[in-house]
Amino acid sequence: MSDCLFCAIVRGDIPADVVLRTDRVIAFRDITPQAPVHVLVIPVDHHPDVPSAALADPVLGAELLQAAAQVAVAEGVSDSGYRLVANTGSHGGQTVHHAHLHVLGGRGLTWPPG
Ligand code: 5GP
Ligand code: ZN
Repeated sequence: MSDCLFCAIVRGDIPADVVLRTDRVIAFRDITPQAPVHVLVIPVDHHPDVPSAALADPVLGAELLQAAAQVAVAEGVSDSGYRLVANTGSHGGQTVHHAHLHVLGGRGLTWPPG
């Protein structure tokens, strides 16, 4: 989509600190990190949110989770633990409407969320 921020990152029109890339998935550091490790995992193809992506393409849903797990290992948080977040829709607090998983770690995270 031409007016989508993350599609622009996929095209390389907006720079990003990419930590993992396959032909279907890209992971890059969040511009406003909320934890020592804060990486976004997105599909190359535009889907409006993670559940929609998984419904449209179940293999892609699995690939997003696999990429998140690989990022956690590469970022050194898989043993200490981390959180995967898929903010979805207005009440979910989603601000960018291209599917993305947040990989958050490197410190103890509070629960419940606000
Ligand atoms: P959401 O609020 O939709 O769950 O998450 C969107 C995330 O995208 C936010 O954490 C925000 O900091 C991040 N973000 C917004 N614009 C950019 C950008 O231009 N580059 C990067 N790397 N992250 C961005
Ligand atoms: Zn997009």
